[in-house]
Amino acid sequence: MRYSGFRVLAEALTGHRGWTAVWRDPEPQPAYDYVIVGGGGHGLATAYYLAREFRQARIAVLEKGWIGGGNVGRNTTIIRSNYLLDGNQPFYEFSLKLWEGLEQDFNYNAMVSQRGILNLFHSDAQRDAYTRRGNAMILHGADARILNRDQVRAIYPFLNFDNARFPIKGGLLQKRGGTVRHDAVAWGYARGADQRGVDILQNCEVTGFRIAQGRVLGVDTSRGFIGAGKVGVAVAGSSSRVMALAGMRLPIESHVLQAFVSEGLKPVIDGVITFGAGHFYVSQSDKGGLVFGGDIDGYNSYAQRGNLAVVEDVAEGGMALMPMIGRARLLRTWGGIMDMSMDGSPIIDRTGIDGLYFNGGWCYGGFKATPASGWVFAHLLATDTPHPTATAYRFDRFRKGLMIDEKGQGAQPNLH
Ligand SMILES: Cc1cc2nc3c(=O)[nH]c(=O)nc-3n(C[C@H](O)[C@H](O)[C@H](O)COP(=O)(O)OP(=O)(O)OC[C@H]3O[C@@H](n4cnc5c(N)ncnc54)[C@H](O)[C@@H]3O)c2cc1C
Repeated sequence: MRYSGFRVLAEALTGHRGWTAVWRDPEPQPAYDYVIVGGGGHGLATAYYLAREFRQARIAVLEKGWIGGGNVGRNTTIIRSNYLLDGNQPFYEFSLKLWEGLEQDFNYNAMVSQRGILNLFHSDAQRDAYTRRGNAMILHGADARILNRDQVRAIYPFLNFDNARFPIKGGLLQKRGGTVRHDAVAWGYARGADQRGVDILQNCEVTGFRIAQGRVLGVDTSRGFIGAGKVGVAVAGSSSRVMALAGMRLPIESHVLQAFVSEGLKPVIDGVITFGAGHFYVSQSDKGGLVFGGDIDGYNSYAQRGNLAVVEDVAEGGMALMPMIGRARLLRTWGGIMDMSMDGSPIIDRTGIDGLYFNGGWCYGGFKATPASGWVFAHLLATDTPHPTATAYRFDRFRKGLMIDEKGQGAQPNLH
């Protein structure tokens, strides 16, 4: 079923009896050409582009829980392409361009809202660093603008401009950045993939890989063995555990990241704001809740909930940036498991096992990458060559010392 204004009108006049399920609930087939493990944003987007862009068939997405139950439905919904390094910038700009046409492409309202993202700076050195980043963005065809303190104050007068410990000196603005309704992204890709014949198998946990003579033959699952020509793994926070089933140890640690939503307030924040003197970022949802977050919990964990020390740290960041947030009541918090790589950048690559491919290491920035990640992973699976925007995301960069260390933190995953 195609969604359109006409369809809404027609259904309204006929008692809404014509809407059909958004995707099917098929039984697993004995074998597929492509099995994608993980029904998050990246796995679903991979299946969608494999079918739509690369004209492949006999594709299944295996999800141990339900569609949208992982990080794709837990993140704080920010999209942007304000990266500095050559390995990252073209990839994230490719992703932002895909976001810009996504709703028309998969015929689903994902509420893509390019409301702008502003990274505040608080020192002269930070201004220099952000100017350099802005220049790199412009050189790669992205948009970037440096705002001075007065220009920031004109947009966000409620920020702490007076008596602040870290005075706001200006900000790097990317107007094309913004937010997207996260679970609608999962549903839109699921629907688009299903329409093109992809089997989406929920409650289907991969429990092992069948490998013979260095080649993957399929996967053992909670719903039986499923044979596969090629297997692509895109399980985000579960990457280390799932790849361990194939005997691989990854340069990835898992940490919890929490999100916070306040009670609904009148519109006050147009765009996305990030604090430059601590880790805190905030936007406002269409329902009025302030959506904010900060650092990951520092210890390794597979729990989808966080601890109070980080709640306090995030609250401190919020109070330092915009003291009025202290008057808002917190409505909800939750956590998601982040696949933190050693240099803070992702891995999209073949493995040493024929037919087994890996996509992960998204740290806490993988939502914005969803369209490009799906596209380039589908490209790799279908053609066995990396997409031009993702040639740097190889496993061997850790062996060769070719890190893509956007934050310059070194091999300390919890700091990226
Ligand atoms: C609180 C929070 C805030 C964030 N904010 C942002 C943000 O503002 N912007 C941004 O760009 N990124 C953000 N992120 C990061 C982003 O959400 C993730 O990097 C991205 O969603 C990961 O890719 P995914 O959608 O495929 O993951 P997921 O949705 O987690 O998908 C992986 C799926 O694999 C499944 N799985 C695991 N093991 C198995 C198995 N054995 N068999 C079958 N299936 C399995 C899981 O159930 C899960 O559904 C945030 C994350 C969190 C938690």
